[in-house]
Amino acid sequence: MDRYDTRNAAQSVRSLAAACDSSRSGNDTGGRMTETVSTPKQPDNTFGLLIIGAGPAGLAPLLAAARNGLLPHVLSTGVLLVDRAHEPGAGRLGNYIITSDSSADTFLSCVRNSPVPELAVLAETPLAQEVAAYGADCVPLELAGRLMAEVGKAMANLIARSPHGRVAMGTEVDRLDENVDGSWTAQLRDVQTGRTETVKAASILVATGATQEPARLQHLPVGGAPLLPRYENKLIQSDEFLSHDGFARTIAALTAMDSPKVAIVGGSTSAMSCARQILIALEGHTPPVHVTLLHRHPMTIFYPGRDAAHADGYTSFDERDICALSGFVHRFGGFRFESRILARQLLGVGDAPPEPRMSLHQLQEGNDAEARRILDNADLVIACLGYRPAAVPIRDRTGALLPLAAQEEGRPLVNDACEVIAADATPIPGLFGIGLACGYRPPIEMGGERSFSGQVNGLWLWQNDVGLMLIRRLLAYSGNLPPEEAAHAA
Ligand SMILES: Cc1cc2nc3c(=O)[nH]c(=O)nc-3n(C[C@H](O)[C@H](O)[C@H](O)COP(=O)(O)OP(=O)(O)OC[C@H]3O[C@@H](n4cnc5c(N)ncnc54)[C@H](O)[C@@H]3O)c2cc1C
Repeated sequence: MDRYDTRNAAQSVRSLAAACDSSRSGNDTGGRMTETVSTPKQPDNTFGLLIIGAGPAGLAPLLAAARNGLLPHVLSTGVLLVDRAHEPGAGRLGNYIITSDSSADTFLSCVRNSPVPELAVLAETPLAQEVAAYGADCVPLELAGRLMAEVGKAMANLIARSPHGRVAMGTEVDRLDENVDGSWTAQLRDVQTGRTETVKAASILVATGATQEPARLQHLPVGGAPLLPRYENKLIQSDEFLSHDGFARTIAALTAMDSPKVAIVGGSTSAMSCARQILIALEGHTPPVHVTLLHRHPMTIFYPGRDAAHADGYTSFDERDICALSGFVHRFGGFRFESRILARQLLGVGDAPPEPRMSLHQLQEGNDAEARRILDNADLVIACLGYRPAAVPIRDRTGALLPLAAQEEGRPLVNDACEVIAADATPIPGLFGIGLACGYRPPIEMGGERSFSGQVNGLWLWQNDVGLMLIRRLLAYSGNLPPEEAAHAA
């Protein structure tokens, strides 16, 4: 059988499941999750779905399933949820010092009016009330992270109480091996004891988040040359800068300087967040701090509609920048909330007061002498050059390491069906992926502006359209998709 023949692999997986005795039924969930689905009996170390990473992305498809009445079907396949962290739910989200670029309401929407009572109650807790108080505004990510941790705990309980579910926190997945029958073997390692075990799964969801490996900065050109090793002694990456320790340390160093100059490389929300946090933290510093943002693409601002943009005097958009579903201007690519405040100032939009402590420099292709001058003169360089997916080593059925597309700079982990793709862009049967930097580009049916060519990393989309699409595919792959859902899974 061809390694990349999805249909044949799916049949093998189905026959693996069919070989098991199909006698078990119902969910041992204290009678609260009402719908029951008959489940095939499986050996203790065999699961229908292994989810690697219990962060916001790993949970998102389960939350989409819950909202759409499919959670019992997913749980009936036997879910194993694994994370090297000790608490499920928040991943790295709560580590950042900034506020969200999505509204507080979107964080609550995964539990509000959920048909699963164990999730619905989470919309009423004191913590949820605290989040709800921010309403349509942004919310501190630390608070959003705590909410996601409550959601994670509830979901982990639902999994653990399902007939063949298991949750393994404090456990790392070290490697994945493709079996001859199309299923997968995963090596799990207890991060404290180092004890290892192997489990078998029909399909895998890789939701391992992303990293900012310093090695990338030795190759990615900025103004014609890489940032490393040239700026090694004054460089920090955005992820570290925006986390509590990194921020405290860096701001202390800047505060001790006479007239600190900061160069921020990148035009993303993270880059704007870094700038805004510095300006706030060094408010009143004399002589004042100066921040230069070196960005490649023109900056764009989110508006809830064409009229709102025009009323604000913002005209840098055309039809291609308007989402056909929502009417939003720059729905995916525009700055929102706190970054938007600064973007309006920098672009001189509406009544936004100028920000004399900051300037913009649009990077030129090739050798950009002005960019080099700014970087050379800076006391601190913050690299906001995005993330790359954190991968788990994957071996094919011959035991050879399987090269992934994502190992090449700029290429995604997944295709538009959230299937993990090999270096030759072929989907790897039974391997799906979701999460930060996995490179998912939503199809036009999910909305967004046609001019947007980036990837979407928002939780709301993962918990709704993307998560639901993924869940249907996972259920279809294992032969557990209810017939009434089949039309949607194609
Ligand atoms: C600065 C910043 C701000 C953001 N703000 C928002 C926002 O306001 N709104 C929004 O919707 N999105 C936001 N995002 C995007 C996204 O929602 C978050 O980055 C989110 O934390 C991503 O979730 P994740 O599950 O992909 O990754 P993570 O949060 O990193 O979770 C990955 C999990 O996988 C585990 N893991 C990794 N490897 C293994 C392994 N081998 N074995 C076992 N476990 C493993 C980790 O322990 C971790 O728990 C933001 C992103 C950044 C960087």
